[in-house]
Amino acid sequence: MAQYDYIVIGAGSAGCVLANRLTAGGMHSVLLLEAGGSDRSPWIQVPIGYGRTFNDPRYNWMYEAEPDAALGGRRQFVPRGKVLGGSSSINAMVYVRGQPADFDDWAAAGNPGWSWREVLPYFRKLEDHPGGESGYHGVGGPVRISDVSAQVHPLCGSFIAACARVGIPRTPDFNGAQPEGAGLWQVTIKDGVRVSTANAYLKPARARRNLEVLTRAHATRVLFEGRRAAGVEFLSGGVRLSAQARREVIVSAGAINSPQLLELSGVGDAQLLRRLDLPLVADSPAVGRGLQDHLAVSYFYRSQVPTLNDQLAPFTGKVRAALTYLLAARRGPLAMSVNQAGAFVRSRPGLALPNMHVYFNPASYSTTTAGTSRRLLNPDPYPGFLMSFNTCRPTSRGSVHIRSPDPRASPAIVLNSLATESDVQDVFEGARLLRRIAASEPLASSIASEREPGSAVRGDAEVLADFRQRAGSVFHDCGTCVMGPEPRTAVVDPQLRVHGVSGLRVADASIFPNITSGNTNAAVIMVGEKAADLILQDSHTPQA
Ligand SMILES: Cc1cc2nc3c(=O)[nH]c(=O)nc-3n(C[C@H](O)[C@H](O)[C@H](O)COP(=O)(O)OP(=O)(O)OC[C@H]3O[C@@H](n4cnc5c(N)ncnc54)[C@H](O)[C@@H]3O)c2cc1C
Repeated sequence: MAQYDYIVIGAGSAGCVLANRLTAGGMHSVLLLEAGGSDRSPWIQVPIGYGRTFNDPRYNWMYEAEPDAALGGRRQFVPRGKVLGGSSSINAMVYVRGQPADFDDWAAAGNPGWSWREVLPYFRKLEDHPGGESGYHGVGGPVRISDVSAQVHPLCGSFIAACARVGIPRTPDFNGAQPEGAGLWQVTIKDGVRVSTANAYLKPARARRNLEVLTRAHATRVLFEGRRAAGVEFLSGGVRLSAQARREVIVSAGAINSPQLLELSGVGDAQLLRRLDLPLVADSPAVGRGLQDHLAVSYFYRSQVPTLNDQLAPFTGKVRAALTYLLAARRGPLAMSVNQAGAFVRSRPGLALPNMHVYFNPASYSTTTAGTSRRLLNPDPYPGFLMSFNTCRPTSRGSVHIRSPDPRASPAIVLNSLATESDVQDVFEGARLLRRIAASEPLASSIASEREPGSAVRGDAEVLADFRQRAGSVFHDCGTCVMGPEPRTAVVDPQLRVHGVSGLRVADASIFPNITSGNTNAAVIMVGEKAADLILQDSHTPQA
């Protein structure tokens, strides 16, 4: 059986960071197992391809959650990257690190080392920031961040000015001294090409002789010797293979697949594993509990002024956009995220922190009621745009658990949306906030009508009913192998070591003790960076 010092499961936002950092010194051998395949497709590399990979099973696990009673029994679509780069290869590329308090709350939950002050150096380390080096930002790191303010649609300026009119100040940098306010998103795009972690971390490391990357290698369980993780079993081309880990196995399979893999491996709630006839290695009742996500609803507007729809909807417009991309050094709408502007806002007086995340997209392309299909490449055939909101820190929590010992079966994803009073309250406030912004100049005079939900939906009851009917995930699933000091309530300790066993860590979005206030990719890469440091520090101690 092949032997490595470390086996990393999952080449996603965190896994690619680990593969790079653990092999950098040439001291350790690493096997990186990825269930998906190559990321060479232009639909992955060209930013607008987001609309295509969103529901392409070649690159996407395309999970469906259980019917959600709070959302009228609808099943939410749960896309997850299944390709080198993981979800960073199919995401919308918005770069937001979160509010400092998000991480201070991680530390306050019993996790020394994870406060804002302590994680900031890892954010700086991962960045190659266009604003240059500062107390907030780093340069020369693997992840190129772009400031696209010179290229965004002019309507973004109207949105920001309208926000100012309702008392939301402009911020020049959501990731700097002022994370609150309205402004333009920074993006993980370099010269018109997506900056996934496969591009940023894995490619520069691929030639290293101490790194082996196996694609289409689906890990089916962690192998234990007693309570020590000793290797991994995986399926490759229909054949069951295994590899040995001399030092550690690191599970970076993401918020849906990491708890699934732990349970398949005998680490989970003893009763669940007994019911499924799986041998128990460690009774860890927190595995799979605590799922969090951002649940957003979009308000669609018909516009009096041209929007991206005018550029992208007609066939001739698509051809022009493609030619601009190819001939003008990868510029134009295809080189951009459609998420261009937004805001972090306190929706009522008395709040210490922003509770509302607002998106402004100068295009309108689908209703969320269309299930898994998203017509991003086919926007509405008239000028239009959308605004969305979600609660920054929802308090509802769901779960992810296996329902069968078959590693290829989808786990049961229970979202448990709107389970708390405060999450419901934020729906009312979010709707009022969007409508206040829409009614303010100069945005107001650009609007022909609110197409959806429309003026008939006004009172709290109608707003909530509409939200239940149309709200959808923003795909920030996290918290299913939560970090904390107590083995009964947490899965990993503050060093990301799985409680109750040895030689096994989890490092990805599943360890978040609470969801961060913005998009999650940057925070996951930070987790990968910090995990690599923790593992390398421990590599100096002799193996038990
Ligand atoms: C459609 C979409 C849009 C998003 N937009 C944004 C955005 O604009 N900005 C932002 O900050 N965040 C965004 N996110 C969220 C962000 O991308 C994720 O939070 C982040 O990528 C999660 O990283 P991860 O390492 O936890 O998991 P992933 O990146 O999903 O990586 C997990 C990897 O493990 C592999 N894997 C799983 N199971 C196994 C197994 N058994 N064996 C082998 N390999 C396995 C998977 O195939 C995958 O490659 C978006 C996500 C999605 C899906």
